[in-house]
Amino acid sequence: MIIVTQRADLSAFVDDAKANHQRIGFVPTMGALHDGHLSLVKLAKEHADKVVVSIFVNPTQFAPHEDFDSYPRDIETDAKLLAAEGVDCVYTPSRVAIYPDGEASDIKAGQAANGLESDFRPHFFDGVVNVVYRLFNHVKPDVAIFGEKDFQQLMVIQEMVKTEKLPIDIIGAPIARDEAGLALSSRNAYLSEDELQIARKLNIILRDVTASEAPEILLKAGFAKVDYVKKRWNRVLGAAWLGQTRLIDNLEI
Ligand code: AMP
Repeated sequence: MIIVTQRADLSAFVDDAKANHQRIGFVPTMGALHDGHLSLVKLAKEHADKVVVSIFVNPTQFAPHEDFDSYPRDIETDAKLLAAEGVDCVYTPSRVAIYPDGEASDIKAGQAANGLESDFRPHFFDGVVNVVYRLFNHVKPDVAIFGEKDFQQLMVIQEMVKTEKLPIDIIGAPIARDEAGLALSSRNAYLSEDELQIARKLNIILRDVTASEAPEILLKAGFAKVDYVKKRWNRVLGAAWLGQTRLIDNLEI
């Protein structure tokens, strides 16, 4: 496995693979990897000959009051996990490599971004399409994998690829959960033991009660605040807070 920070080194790897008629699979991440990310890597390997994983904590998808500075970063552990999965190339670009001409967005998120997350993180999906579009230009993948954990994000990316006519297959990966059903997330590392017990109720409440009842029941279960619980895309999607930590989840209905 090679680890590259320079775009030119990434391109040399990708061009070489393409010259050998190999398909490139791509998994964009912000690092602090867990089994959810690794399940995306496994899926990428099924759909491609070479797998590229990027690790980049994207500043443009965080609002100033959000956790960009404290977001967990551990490249060494991440690299070991990815090597063990048989990843071919890890791309860890610098901020200036991704945003050489400033951080303004060339493209805007489409309709799928309306509501849900955008009601609470209005900057978020423009930041996501901004970075994913740039990463796609660097990696030039044939196929890219995104988790259903961030279901609205998956919808936004699929719409972007269609609108921009990018020749990239987007594949959604099922949500990886712990033994209690809690969706794995890098942000779960912020939770205290008590908060973890409450967090594990989120998936059960989304499954067992109606969207209109869920906010009250989540608050009774110990969540500090509920941003939303709504139905869309044949799913129930929810976001709720435990202390300073915001959790999201969704389930098919
Ligand atoms: P992140 O590093 O949080 O930006 O996530 C990178 C990718 O991993 C995104 O496509 C996420 O949807 C996906 N992902 C994160 N957690 C999970 C999970 N528990 N199950 C499946 N995919 C996930």
